[in-house]
Amino acid sequence: MMERTIFHKIICKEVSSKIVYQDHLVTAFEDIKPKCPIHILVVPNIYIVNLNDITENHERLLGHMVLICSKIAREKKIHDSGYRLVMNCNRNSGQEVSYLHMHLLGGKPLGDFLEMEK
Ligand code: 5GP
Repeated sequence: MMERTIFHKIICKEVSSKIVYQDHLVTAFEDIKPKCPIHILVVPNIYIVNLNDITENHERLLGHMVLICSKIAREKKIHDSGYRLVMNCNRNSGQEVSYLHMHLLGGKPLGDFLEMEK
């Protein structure tokens, strides 16, 4: 049987978290170890491991995830100062939780994330 991740349990509220938004497609909640003042995770309610597993059928869902990030950014009043959306995929990106998610990061200058060692 498939092992359920922590995000499965957060979505169905078996594990408590600070949910900031939920609808029939996605759930958004505060990251337990925020990397900046605003650090929200947006996840689909259906299980997808990561970007390697998306198909044409998920186009609307992925668009919805971006739309919800944009709405939350406005609600949190970081839309003018700016923010970043990040999706990690597999080992080299540092993906920790094997459940597709989008990070919404903001509330302070985030630096140049493209400046990385070769
Ligand atoms: P990844 O590195 O996989 O892109 O990001 C996973 C994120 O999930 C990390 O930022 C981590 O802090 C967050 N996270 C891991 N476990 C929990 C948890 O139990 N609750 C919440 N709210 N976030 C978690």
